[in-house]
Amino acid sequence: MRHETIRKPSLSEFPVAPNLRDWAAERKTFSWDAIAKECRGLPGGGLNKGFECIDRHVLEGRGGKTALRWESKEGTIETFTFAQAKEATDRIGNLLRGLGVARGDRIFVFLERVPELYWTVFGTLKAGGVAGPLFSAFGPEAIRDRVADSEAKVLVTSTTLIDRVREIRNELPALQHVLVTNRARVPFFPQAGESSFEEAYGRASAAFEIEPTRPEDFSIMHYTSGTTGKPKGAVHWHRAILGQRHTARVCLDLHPEDVYWCTADPGWVTGTSYGMFGPWSLGVTQVVYEGPFDAERWYSVLERHGVTVWYSAPTAIRMLMKAGKEAASKSDLSRVRFCASVGEPLNPEAIVWAQDALGKTFHDNWWQTETGCIQISNYAAMDVRPGSMGRPIPGTEAAVIDASGKEVPAGQEGDLALKPGWPSMYRTYWKKKELYDSRFKNGWYITGDRAWKDEDGYFWFVGRADDVIKTAGHLVGPFEVESALVEHPAVAEAAVIGKPDPERYEIIKAFVSLRAGCVPSDALKAEIANFVRNRLAAHAYPREIEFLPGLPKTRSGKIMRRLLKARELGLPEGDTSTLEE
Ligand code: AMP
Repeated sequence: MRHETIRKPSLSEFPVAPNLRDWAAERKTFSWDAIAKECRGLPGGGLNKGFECIDRHVLEGRGGKTALRWESKEGTIETFTFAQAKEATDRIGNLLRGLGVARGDRIFVFLERVPELYWTVFGTLKAGGVAGPLFSAFGPEAIRDRVADSEAKVLVTSTTLIDRVREIRNELPALQHVLVTNRARVPFFPQAGESSFEEAYGRASAAFEIEPTRPEDFSIMHYTSGTTGKPKGAVHWHRAILGQRHTARVCLDLHPEDVYWCTADPGWVTGTSYGMFGPWSLGVTQVVYEGPFDAERWYSVLERHGVTVWYSAPTAIRMLMKAGKEAASKSDLSRVRFCASVGEPLNPEAIVWAQDALGKTFHDNWWQTETGCIQISNYAAMDVRPGSMGRPIPGTEAAVIDASGKEVPAGQEGDLALKPGWPSMYRTYWKKKELYDSRFKNGWYITGDRAWKDEDGYFWFVGRADDVIKTAGHLVGPFEVESALVEHPAVAEAAVIGKPDPERYEIIKAFVSLRAGCVPSDALKAEIANFVRNRLAAHAYPREIEFLPGLPKTRSGKIMRRLLKARELGLPEGDTSTLEE
């Protein structure tokens, strides 16, 4: 279905704001040096994201400005000024130093979306550590894989999540300290290596000197999934703040006076690059809502906090769509002036619906964990082509290329590739340098996505080039799910695919062959799905399971996911010459 381009008013019709410019057209004159000059840098030299996002505002007289408006699941609201954020992060920096944390040490945070999560990430950065936020829906296996691989020294978690950590604690030899927050105020009986976060925080001094990190020092790592193997840690440096600051302004249209809500969880890169770094480096007030999706509650959050800029994801927009226009009509959304979306294809119907029901245009943009910041965007001052990801940001060269690295003509599908060198590009996959190097070919960074470009330079997403699944905005590696499936005593073999879904873009579908003597039943399906949900993650379990007597394999014994997917979707099966007899 084709949709009309949504024409923006001409620039002269805009209520002129200094950053509302045609950024796609300004790519030629852009220089990263200008953005580097906007960063203040540490007083004694060096660059630290914590300083750029928090301390700097206090130093420049904005300490009294609200940095965070936090709303709990229960509806209580806490606000923090930049000065309070500085004190909290200084104390946590001291607390971590007191535990022996030195530059480059990994500090992981496994918390609900509470203020302590935000301040621990920044305390870590200010102490020179590398922060690793974990999604609070993770089960023990997902936690173990990430904390073990990163060899994190400290983990900050909560009394509500600690049981999942305790299950795998003895598989984490490098982990020295587990700090446990207790917002729930439940009785807490620390086990060996555990201590109370609040007590340690209370003892820590607020007099703190930021570690003099250099731009190239590592700052944060996010685990991301591939087709094979366990998730790998994409590592970013402090210099990434340049890309995050720049794009928060040009792609999210953030001005210092905005009140901004990014609905992403900091367990994923959107929740840090745009739920922490970009907006706070511009001194914007951020809203964080702790609870899960709920249409009416979300609208009320927008109204209650006077949100002006809103960054969300296609699955959420489709869920709002399902909840209907009436859900929106109960709240006053008139202050919301700019909406953006990321994470998976934003279908034109969702954009058209939001225009009608909310009176807002969602501006889609594209990027990934590895790119550290938005790369392709529908800018505020640009016509929106519903269904297109937009055009490259100033400072990035994007292209659609063929297998030899040559750009293909407009309209032709190929690999979406970026010219390496933008400041927030990831620096490595943790302890997997070879894999990192393999992502660069013929002078391009190969994103793993398939796309095409139209004559006007708008990019259109086609799909993933690999077997990775995108479900409700979360990237899930089939191998992770298959590994969890085969741990169930009834499962002999398992293969997992992404099955198209009108709401979640894809759902995880598992094909399972059972061990001899196990009888297929719906109850067993539910039990297996629950098993994966509890062990791996609440977002990464198979919503559909099909029992098969055996799984199709190549002669070398590799399960052919591609074939299962083709059969599921009724597509041509392709080359099956390597199929086991
Ligand atoms: P992640 O690294 O988890 O942020 O996932 C990145 C992947 O999500 C990209 O490589 C794309 O496959 C997908 N993605 C992100 N943004 C978009 C978008 N605007 N349209 C289509 N796919 C997207």
